[in-house]
Amino acid sequence: MDNCIFCKIIDKEIPADIIYEDDVILAFHDLEPQAPVHLLIVPKKHLTSLDDVEFEDIDALGWLMAKVKDIAASQGIETGYRLVCNCGEDAMQTVKHLHFHLLGKRKMLWPPG
Ligand code: 5GP
Ligand code: ZN
Repeated sequence: MDNCIFCKIIDKEIPADIIYEDDVILAFHDLEPQAPVHLLIVPKKHLTSLDDVEFEDIDALGWLMAKVKDIAASQGIETGYRLVCNCGEDAMQTVKHLHFHLLGKRKMLWPPG
């Protein structure tokens, strides 16, 4: 996707504070952190949102989920974390490349706003 900011980060066309990368996923610090640890974990394949996910994406997204605990541990998160995926307008998704927010190192509230 030509105009996708996260594709540009994946392609190293624009900088990001990357903390984990493999062939399938990338994790980097959010530009505007909402918690002491606030990472974005993205599949390298451009998918607009969860609404775009198909059977062929199961392996990539399963792998992403399996890596969450390791990425959290790498940030010293020991007492829990929250994984958030905003999908679409009502959820206030602003970047149209599927991503998961990993938030940690503070007590979260529920329900979310
Ligand atoms: P959304 O609202 O779509 O779920 O979240 C998008 C997130 O991407 C926001 O938390 C925002 O701070 C972050 N973000 C937007 N542009 C950039 C960028 O260029 N670099 C990084 N690292 N984060 C970004
Ligand atoms: Zn993209």
